[in-house]
Amino acid sequence: VAHSTVGRGLLLEDLFIAVKTTHKFHQSRMGLLLDTWISQLKEQTHVFTDKEDDELQEKLGDHVIVTNCSAEHSHPALSCKMAAEFDAFLASGLSWFCHLDDDNYLNPLALLNLLTSYSPDKDVYIGKPSLNRPIHASETLPNNQTKSVYFWFATGGAGFCISKRLATKMAPWASGINFLITSELIHLPDDCTVGYIIECKLASRLVPSTLFHSHLENLHLIQSPQLTKQVTLSYGIFENKLNTIKLAGPFSSQEDPSRFRSLHCLLYPDTSWCPQSVSQ
Ligand code: UDP
Ligand code: MN
Repeated sequence: VAHSTVGRGLLLEDLFIAVKTTHKFHQSRMGLLLDTWISQLKEQTHVFTDKEDDELQEKLGDHVIVTNCSAEHSHPALSCKMAAEFDAFLASGLSWFCHLDDDNYLNPLALLNLLTSYSPDKDVYIGKPSLNRPIHASETLPNNQTKSVYFWFATGGAGFCISKRLATKMAPWASGINFLITSELIHLPDDCTVGYIIECKLASRLVPSTLFHSHLENLHLIQSPQLTKQVTLSYGIFENKLNTIKLAGPFSSQEDPSRFRSLHCLLYPDTSWCPQSVSQ
C-alpha cells in the first residue's frame, strides 16, 4: 500500500513483528491487541505461544506459532520462545526483526519512521536501555572458570528491533538450542541474553531509543501530544499500581483500563468501534 512508503522506501512489508504470549493471556491480552494495532499489521505479525487455541488460530492462521516451550515464566521457557521467534525471523528472509510482549501497543508508522533511518544491511540493535549503565554478568567459561562481562541491553517488555544483517551474525548463539545454552552461560533472562550476544560476542552496540516503553517506567509522564509518536507503549503493574498512559478518552478507564482502545482511536479514527466524529 502506498501510504506505508516512508524515507528510503522501507515498507511495513519488510518488518517481522514477533509477539510473545502464553495461553492464559490469549483471551485478555491478545484479544485487545487483535482489536487494536494487530488489525493494522496482520501480515507482519507472528504470535509465539505455548498452547493450541482454535480461536486465536482462526483469527491469525499460520501466524500463530505454537512452540514446544513450556508455559512458565522461567528463564528457560522464555529463552525457548525467543529462540523460536529468532528462527522464524531468519526463515522469513525479511529485513527487520522486532520483538514485543503481549502488553505492548505498537504504532506501525512510528516504527517505520524510526527504522527508515537505518539500514537492515548494517548491524542495528535498537530499543530502550533497561538500565542507565551496562549490566554486569559472570560468564561461565569452558574450563568452568568465570569471566566478568558488561553490556547494555534493551528491555524486552518495551520491544526492540534487530536488523537482518545483525540477526544473521547472531545465529551461532541465538538459533535453536543455542539461545538457551547462551542464556545459561550468563544466568540471565532472554532480553539480557540478546544484549550479551550482540555486545559481547559481536562487538556491536545498542542504539538507545526513547520511543520504546515498558510498564516498568511511569507511563503517566509521557505528554499526551507525544503519545502518537511513540513506537511502543505498555500497561501493567508498577510499584503495586496499574501503570498506564495518560489519555482522556474517548473511552473511560472502566471500558478501557489499558487505554489502548482510546489510543487506537486517536491513531485510527475510522475504526468501526471508535466513536465517529461528525464532519463539518
Ligand atoms: N509470558 C510467557 N509465559 C509466562 C508468563 C509470561 O510467555 O508464563 C510472557 C507474557 O505473555 C508477556 C511476557 O512474557 O509477553 C512478560 O510477561 P508479563 O507481562 O506477565 O510479566 P512482566 O515481566 O512484564 O512483569
Ligand atoms: Mn509485562
